[in-house]
Amino acid sequence: MNLILLGPPGAGKGTQAKMLIDRFGIPQISTGDMLRAAVAAGTELGLKAKACMDSGALVPDEVVIGIVGERLAQADCDKGFILDGFPRTVAQADALKQTLGQLGKSLDAVISLEVDTEALVERLTGRRTCRACGQGFHVRFDPPAKEGVCDACGGELYQRDDDREETIRKRLDVYQEQTSPLIEYYQQEGLLAAIDGMQDISVVQEDILATLREAR
Ligand code: ADP
Ligand code: ADP
Ligand code: ZN
Repeated sequence: MNLILLGPPGAGKGTQAKMLIDRFGIPQISTGDMLRAAVAAGTELGLKAKACMDSGALVPDEVVIGIVGERLAQADCDKGFILDGFPRTVAQADALKQTLGQLGKSLDAVISLEVDTEALVERLTGRRTCRACGQGFHVRFDPPAKEGVCDACGGELYQRDDDREETIRKRLDVYQEQTSPLIEYYQQEGLLAAIDGMQDISVVQEDILATLREAR
């Protein structure tokens, strides 16, 4: 199962991806998680990415295309993968098509999670993220069993610097301008499945699973 989860910041991509990993035993490829790990480790990639991320802008295409290309070539992607937060521009989608072609792979479905802007702001301002594994929680909508502690790995939960209202508005504008054209892009490829992301987390998951059953 080779899958893209598409949608604006806060739509629920990471939340749904984490549930699909367990279900299908395939890896989540989150460019956001990979970039945050690079920033935390202070690598050259992290240094390049940090300023863009803090301002709510996208990291340059060639940077993320490179890291995803390397990741997709690893053996654990042979059974499938869930791309979360990539592609985010038409140039990235074109590069992905080329990379998959070279690897002899193709996409099975592109799930587009649809959520109203005001709900996105509410979700992102209340999001708490695990420093260790990247799992997302929400102070009201999806609280961890113990405040400040990740249910999945026991790691520390924190609020991302870019999950503050000013940066959130900027990221939503960036999504509209640079990423939303991908909806049309994948519609034309016959791969797009739109899902109502305003529903409860478990209902969204059921809708995704139903869509994937049809796609196979
Ligand atoms: P994305 O990866 O698309 O940016 P996340 O999966 O991190 O989004 O979700 C953003 C925030 O919204 C998180 O705090 C998460 O717990 C919460 N959330 C995710 N899905 C839902 C939902 N269906 N209803 C309410 N809150 C949700
Ligand atoms: P969210 O789903 O909440 O928007 P992500 O964790 O996916 O957050 O991304 C956080 C930031 O990392 C983005 O605002 C951007 O700066 C950078 N980023 C992540 N994925 C990409 C990508 N595919 N292309 C460019 N920048 C990216
Ligand atoms: Zn964790």
